Amino acid sequence: MFCVECGKDESIFRNGVCMNCYLKHTQFSKGPPILDVMLCPRCSSYKYKNTWVAEPFDDILKRHIKDAFSISPELKGVTIQTRCNEKDRVITCMVFISGSLEGYTITEQHPLTVRIRHNTCEICSREAGGYYEAILQIRSEHRTFTDVELKTLRSAVEKMVGQFQESGKRGLFITDIDVKREGLDFFLSEKGTALSIAKKVQEQFGGDFKQSASSAGMKDSRQVYRMTYLVRIPAYRKGDFFVFDSVYYYLISLHANKVRAIDLSSWAEKVIEGKDVLPSRIFGGLEMVKEMIVVSQSKNEIQLMDSKSYATVEIHKPKDASVDTAMVKTVKLDGYLFLFPEK
Ligand SMILES: [Zn+2]
Ligand SMILES: [Zn+2]
Repeated sequence: MFCVECGKDESIFRNGVCMNCYLKHTQFSKGPPILDVMLCPRCSSYKYKNTWVAEPFDDILKRHIKDAFSISPELKGVTIQTRCNEKDRVITCMVFISGSLEGYTITEQHPLTVRIRHNTCEICSREAGGYYEAILQIRSEHRTFTDVELKTLRSAVEKMVGQFQESGKRGLFITDIDVKREGLDFFLSEKGTALSIAKKVQEQFGGDFKQSASSAGMKDSRQVYRMTYLVRIPAYRKGDFFVFDSVYYYLISLHANKVRAIDLSSWAEKVIEGKDVLPSRIFGGLEMVKEMIVVSQSKNEIQLMDSKSYATVEIHKPKDASVDTAMVKTVKLDGYLFLFPEK
């Protein structure tokens, strides 16, 4: 067949013309010369449709191009490439739209000017306005927190917030933190996530959980509530020595309402209800551990000497204890001396 346009003996693609002639006259993509892209100057996220996304400029630009350009459905396997230069907040780009048609690869170029518009996103304006939906309160039973504990708790919560943010909770932020001896208050922007964080704190540090709501006024003719999530951390901590039912224990881990502890006389592990660890029966923590000199030992007994007073004492060894060092760690509770379980 002869092409009606170029007269060559070619296979006819459409309307009596060959592929070459068809391509010459057909425009497969079309787009505007200017695109406006909204950028939040505080958090550097871009607005796309009605949401703000933290994506690289190239990706956002491609999304906008996909929406703003019309691309012929004849083109298959369309890809969009851009090459941009920035000058004084105006970005000059060349857009390359490629696709295939009956085995031919077609690439079309479009010059495009991208104007970056600055606008603070809702989340940043909320943050700037001190917005919060929930208060996470961490308190303790019967005692105040030490500086180390306050620091540990604070960084644990900040880490959890960071993990939620990384997993896509963009609207989550800490508006304010109040640190006092009696505990910490975190003002959080999302009540749902604040609840998950409160549960995680309880999981990690043990204790009770309570929630309460208070009215924060009306919004769009609806009552708005602020939540308070209270985690009351128990009086005991990991590393404490305590007595329960005349047995002396070393506390090794906390679980919501239970503790795992080692019986100091046998070194056997046991799970005990948290409420059974009474504040009045806690002796203290690792600061009570003292090193003593090993004088001699038999299968079941070990003789130890105080390195200051040189007083010696013989005690029964726990079942699994094997001592092959010159010094051992011990703890004295109510006048009883125990070998400290190293493992
Ligand atoms: Zn032709
Ligand atoms: Zn922002």
